[in-house]
Amino acid sequence: MSKNISRRSFVKRTTAATAGVGLVSSNLLSSCAKNEEKKRPNILFIFPDQYRKQSLGFLKNDPVLTPNIDKLASEGVHFTDAVSNHPLCSPFRGMLFSGKYPLSNGVQSNCHSGRTKYGNFLKPDEVCLSDVLKNEGYATGYLGKWHLDGPTPTKPGEPNIWDSYCPPGAHRHGFEFWYSYGTHNRHNHPYYWVNDAKESERTDVNEWSPEHEANVLIDYLENKDGKFRDEEKPFFMCWGINPPHTPFTEVPAKYKKRFEGMTNEDLLNRPNVQTDFPDFNRETGFGDAGVEKKLSQAKDYFACVEGVDDQIGRALDVLEKQGLKDDTIVIFCSDHGEMLGSHGLMHKNVWYKEAFQIPFIVRWPKNIQPGNDNLLLSVPDIMPTLLSYLGLKDKIPAGVEGNDYSAVFRGESFDRPEAALYFFDKPEEENEKRRGVKTHQYSYVIAYDKKNEKHIFMYDDINDPYQMTNIAGQKPEVEKELHSMLEKLLHETKDYFISYI
Ligand code: CA
Repeated sequence: MSKNISRRSFVKRTTAATAGVGLVSSNLLSSCAKNEEKKRPNILFIFPDQYRKQSLGFLKNDPVLTPNIDKLASEGVHFTDAVSNHPLCSPFRGMLFSGKYPLSNGVQSNCHSGRTKYGNFLKPDEVCLSDVLKNEGYATGYLGKWHLDGPTPTKPGEPNIWDSYCPPGAHRHGFEFWYSYGTHNRHNHPYYWVNDAKESERTDVNEWSPEHEANVLIDYLENKDGKFRDEEKPFFMCWGINPPHTPFTEVPAKYKKRFEGMTNEDLLNRPNVQTDFPDFNRETGFGDAGVEKKLSQAKDYFACVEGVDDQIGRALDVLEKQGLKDDTIVIFCSDHGEMLGSHGLMHKNVWYKEAFQIPFIVRWPKNIQPGNDNLLLSVPDIMPTLLSYLGLKDKIPAGVEGNDYSAVFRGESFDRPEAALYFFDKPEEENEKRRGVKTHQYSYVIAYDKKNEKHIFMYDDINDPYQMTNIAGQKPEVEKELHSMLEKLLHETKDYFISYI
């Protein structure tokens, strides 16, 4: 990006932005897109963090009202069986942008300073979705939580550092407009690095991060005085919203109000909810603890969900008012779900559907017929599917492991996957590792615990929708078939785990 001309702040709706904003560079504004590029649609990719599928209001699972996401779904395709193959922040993002599974892109677990030495970060030379779209004439932008860089390594014994500054250039993978941070959970007092700001030039904000970011996105969409993007080009804007990630309590009072006085008996309607962290999980290390203390915040989680919906609605209203709705593909998803007490667990990073399934909605009024589709969509499939649908099949980078399912949008028949991979690894741990498959009917997982003991989990997700009973060993023929599907996926992804099944 070229140096910016003025430091005009576009954060006009906030009071505490301490730094100005770099603008779209003048050489970009002067460059004209080719005719065929003009025809391509804009892409607005919205992915709140830890937003579970059960909190899509129109599904009437969790007691939430999400009128804006409901409207988006009613006008688009809801992929009912999409999964986050490694239900964790950084691995999701790595798979999304690289189109590869974690062992191939190196983002095996969450990025922090203790894992940088293992190469656990998105490499600058990885050719990502955003790199391709920028090269093909898109104006690109990233807003919100990034969490893909490796912070400077810390010494053993020192606390891990999670956040890091992403410098302009190759680390940003083609994203030009930049209003982002690595990772922090300061929802009420977030900070950002904006465009070409140096590490010391952080923008601190006293506003709930989804609301602040919606304001930024609205400015980007309105593009006053052409300061934010080159309107000759279609845009690719990604918005990584942090809530409803923890801390759930950091949510404005206006969103908490509807849940005042409600108890967990009113709110948690899944029969698999338990209020104690099971001894089995404490011994094995499977799943996140803390249910005893954190489950009382369930109402705040749902308040975050409703607040996120409200802010997305503000941005989508502006998209429509600007006349961009028909020419914009809007994708809504999440990086993983939230257990919220199911099986006595909190948060993510397990194979159960509350963590593993994700919302996935795609709307393009001009070309995509609304409806539901039960495609077993995996995260690495998103990149090749999207590029192919945009007419850029020949630009899918070599080495991409996801599949092109763009035929689903064209109403054509195609080979549908029979299973999606479940993955868990920590680069620093030899023992803990898990792989599994999810089919339309079954979940099947081979898990090595922190003592390296092997466990097998199998659930009939149709007849036991809350995954209450582990039926491993009870249906040998089915189990054998699931085992073969897992073996096939591990073979295709050249996964070392194949010698552990
Ligand atoms: Ca996350």
